[in-house]
Amino acid sequence: MVQFSDIPVVRHVGYIEVNTAFQNDVSPLKVDLIYGTFKSEDGSNYILPVVKRAENMVVNDTLSHDYLSPAGIESFSKLACRLLLGDIENLWNDGKVFGIQSIGGTGALKIGAEFLAQHMNCTTVYYPDPSWEMHGSIFSFSGFQKKIQYRYMNRETIEIDFEGFCEDISNASVDSVVILHACGHNPSGLDLSKEQWRTVAEIMKERKLIPFFDIAYQGIASGDIEEDTWAVRHFHSEGIEFLCAQSFSKMFTIYNERVGNLMIVQKSGHNIESLKIHFERIIRSIYSSPPNHGARTILQILSNPKLYDEWSSSFKAIAARIIELRKALRKALEEEVAFKKWNHITDQKGMFIFLNLTDSQVEYLRNFHHIYMINCGRVNVSGLNFTNISYVAKAINDTLR
Ligand code: PMP
Repeated sequence: MVQFSDIPVVRHVGYIEVNTAFQNDVSPLKVDLIYGTFKSEDGSNYILPVVKRAENMVVNDTLSHDYLSPAGIESFSKLACRLLLGDIENLWNDGKVFGIQSIGGTGALKIGAEFLAQHMNCTTVYYPDPSWEMHGSIFSFSGFQKKIQYRYMNRETIEIDFEGFCEDISNASVDSVVILHACGHNPSGLDLSKEQWRTVAEIMKERKLIPFFDIAYQGIASGDIEEDTWAVRHFHSEGIEFLCAQSFSKMFTIYNERVGNLMIVQKSGHNIESLKIHFERIIRSIYSSPPNHGARTILQILSNPKLYDEWSSSFKAIAARIIELRKALRKALEEEVAFKKWNHITDQKGMFIFLNLTDSQVEYLRNFHHIYMINCGRVNVSGLNFTNISYVAKAINDTLR
């Protein structure tokens, strides 16, 4: 019989390990560029004021804490899908688009992966190299036997390797699931052009692959909520069936309330009720039903025109700040480290700057300069501010020499 003490010893890697080291660092110089959360100019965590107001309204209006249904609040999911596709009234009524409230974007990926493994006989998942660190494990923990990273970024030039990407997915077998970052690719900050998305849609259709969009940075990549859904809308207009995992953590600065949505787009809607039951069974067996507060808060904002306007304009301001910080870091690095090109910092989009550093350079920045980021040199742009940018640029200069 296995005893608890027989279990192999492991340690945290990735975000958790870096964050623990950051928390234990007592230096006043320390800089946190780790997680993708918004920070104010003074480095403190930021909550959108409209979210705080909506939360208070929800608390005041709460009359009971009854369970939600496994699929969550339907009106929330409908508005979430509308953020992705625009006017969905007819599609929703016909059962061609539907949504399931999830526990963050991670939960949406998880229930989607379980569904694909259990009901669509999917065994292989493709995801980009590089990608968000959880993609591979979510799918293997859900029973996928093969996880394959498709070429996405050329590490020499820090540009998209589009030829490699197309070649890899063209070789995928029928019914492979392909994860696509809809915008603000994490960690590279490199997004496909519309022309490239058109080509990818063609290949996916021809090879009979199953697209699984992951969108966690809607509005933050281009500064425009609608523009950032272009790829998702294009696949829909091409008549392709797909899934899309939505995370509201960043869009609403509501990370620990764990709000997300899984949108399913299908050609025919006749079996919608039965499909929903399959999803509900999966959810029942994992967490039974989702929590209320965060989704209710977002529903409050999305369904109230005044709150919606306030949210979309304050969110625009955040996206604009990200763009300003990118410009400032590029300028500081061009001054400090003139022997290298830094245009990729403003060419990349979204919350992350991909510095393309080696593991030992990342470690050096941490140990000698108290600057914390995850491997490859992925930087949360909003951890930068006009006080620490010059310090960070000087430290990068020291590290690269
Ligand atoms: N997908 C990507 C690409 C992400 O970057 C993240 C969050 N960092 C997620 C999914 C998970 O989102 P959530 O925190 O809402 O679970």
